[in-house]
Parts: sequence; structure tokens; C-alpha cells
Amino acid sequence: MSSTATGVSSTSTVVACTNCGKRNRVSAVGDGVPRCGSCHTPLPWIADADDSTFAEVADAARLPVLVDLWAPWCGPCRMVSPVLETLARERAGALKLVKVNSDVAPQVSRRFEVQAIPTLVLLKDGKVLDRQVGAAPAPVLRSWLEQHLPPSSAHDASHGTNAGGAGQVEGES
Ligand SMILES: [Zn+2]
Repeated sequence: MSSTATGVSSTSTVVACTNCGKRNRVSAVGDGVPRCGSCHTPLPWIADADDSTFAEVADAARLPVLVDLWAPWCGPCRMVSPVLETLARERAGALKLVKVNSDVAPQVSRRFEVQAIPTLVLLKDGKVLDRQVGAAPAPVLRSWLEQHLPPSSAHDASHGTNAGGAGQVEGES
């Protein structure tokens, strides 16, 4: 048994800004959305949590949270993790990725009735929106997220509807 006494919930990671490359320190816990200190672009938010920190890292988050329940011995988990990190980067500012090592988080595992890993749980305000069991390729996971979350890039779908007859437009100057 290791006896590494980690400080409670004071974890942070260094994330490079996807826009300007500046390295920012991002706390696992916090209100709102982490932004680059230099250019204010939303930063990808990828945090770890366990039984003692899950409530403040995941349940208390204002953003939708994608929980990745994994374990070090799980091969498919190692394939899915980078995909999830890519999706978290695509949705920086709109999604928080929280990784939970299920081996050391029995309470969280019980709460989400984890039978097999990886288990992915989509949370909003501490409530389960949906879950996905097993590894899946990036396009599947991306469209799974899109079913529940707003599109990552807002389209300005303001097509001028021309309710008249199909007239020929002459207006070239
Ligand atoms: Zn930046």
C-alpha cells in the first residue's frame, strides 16, 4: 500500500492554449470555464477525480461533465482516453472531462453501477444524461456527445428565405 498523502483537491494541471500556445495552470475545481491568461480562449478542461474529490470536481461543475471511469489494467481504456481528450479539446469551454480510476474510487463506481470499463457517463449538474459502456471510436463518441450537447461551433443559419417567385436577379454593377 502506498502512503502518498495528497493534498485534498488542490490538483492542477498545466495546459497549453490551443490558440496562442501559452501554458496555463488549470485547477481541477473551479467556477465557470478556464481561459487562457493571455488571449482568453477557453482552455480544454481535463481533470482527475476520486471518491473524495468527485463531488466538487464533477457534480459541482457548471459545464456538462464527461466522466471517464477507467483502470490502469484496462486496455480499451487506454485506447479511449486519448479520444476523450481530443473531444474535450474540441469542446473546450463547453465540456469538462473528469477521469476516475475506478480501482481507487469504489464509491463513484458504485454510484454509476459500473459493471465494465471503460464506462463513460455524461453528467449535468450532477445528474446522469446518458452513459456509454465500452470503447468506441471517435466518430461514435462524437455523435453520442452531439445528441446531448449543443454543437461545438454555432452555425449562423440565417438563410434569407425568398418567398417570392423564382425571379431573375439583375443587379450587377
Ligand atoms: Zn492563449
